[in-house]
Amino acid sequence: MNRSKIEWCDHTFNPITGCRHNCGYCYARRMTARFAGDVRLNLNAKADYTLEEAADGGDPLYVLDRPMLNETGSPLNYPFNFEPTLHRYRYERLDNLKMGNNIFVGAMADIFGEWVPDHWIEEVLSECAKRPMHNYMFLTKNPGRYVKLADAGKLPKGDNFWYGSSITNPHNPYFYDTTRHYHCFVSIEPIHEDFGGFKGMGLPEWIIVGPETGNRKGKVVPDASWIRNITAIADKHGIPVFMKDKLVVYKIIGEDEMRRDYPPQLLQRSLSDKIDKKINGLCDMCKAKYKKRDMVNVLAKTKRGVAAAHSCYLCRDCFARSCKTIGVDAESILEIADGKRKEANNEKEL
Ligand code: SF4
Ligand SMILES: [Zn+2]
Repeated sequence: MNRSKIEWCDHTFNPITGCRHNCGYCYARRMTARFAGDVRLNLNAKADYTLEEAADGGDPLYVLDRPMLNETGSPLNYPFNFEPTLHRYRYERLDNLKMGNNIFVGAMADIFGEWVPDHWIEEVLSECAKRPMHNYMFLTKNPGRYVKLADAGKLPKGDNFWYGSSITNPHNPYFYDTTRHYHCFVSIEPIHEDFGGFKGMGLPEWIIVGPETGNRKGKVVPDASWIRNITAIADKHGIPVFMKDKLVVYKIIGEDEMRRDYPPQLLQRSLSDKIDKKINGLCDMCKAKYKKRDMVNVLAKTKRGVAAAHSCYLCRDCFARSCKTIGVDAESILEIADGKRKEANNEKEL
């Protein structure tokens, strides 16, 4: 799990790496080549990996159940360079994050490329679904695969699953959904043409737009009007727009035109089960959920001579009610408790 440099997500998660689309401007391919190590040597370590048939009948794919190590014992992130590889051992990395995050799944691949077997995709999606506190964002240049998987009932729905199409011009197909309630977005990165509108019948729920980076011969530098036209379409339909920093860095648009908008569902951050249990609890009487620090921690002695230990939590209302039944003034107890807490907090600040 990597803290991401990609501006529109918090983390990238790469259970599959490698892609066969051959885009001339591919950043992932350049990065992978830098960290591949000695690929010939890796290919010779046949006991460390298995081969699998590609779904489109092309060259075989690679499967790693354990990380492959180099001669010094360090794990290799891309032992087969940009060849499609399933890194099955990476799933548990999703558990390392305590808070819910926006996770871009497959930043160094096209998980939905035609060569990827259905069962790889299903495996990745099901590992994500097991950890519902995160938002998962996917991107493909092959949006038809989303449609096929959705038709087969294999594409999970939910506010935390976001299916993106990577497009560069208004003629590229993208995944949209008007009936099945999938969340869909487009990433126009790099933008290579003016967008008069969106060709599909439905609109995306979110638009990410950025210019081409790197120094490729024939690199396309967008005109400011292309970006303004996108914003105009988005504003007309109430679609949030996220612009990449480079649009300002390259002086394509001014800082005052910059947008960093997210759909509301992607602004939500939830807690992991572990942290949730630590911070929140149920009132023992009314069973409503509160922050533990807002409830009364009721202590009880199990026998004489031993220290009182935690017995249960009560919300303040239930605590007051139970005090009343035994003729104790709850208000004064709560005042003392609140005073003590304030003192403790002041001490911490000093
Ligand atoms: S689809 Fe993405 S990962 Fe694949 S070659 Fe094109 S830019 Fe690279
Ligand atoms: Zn209660």
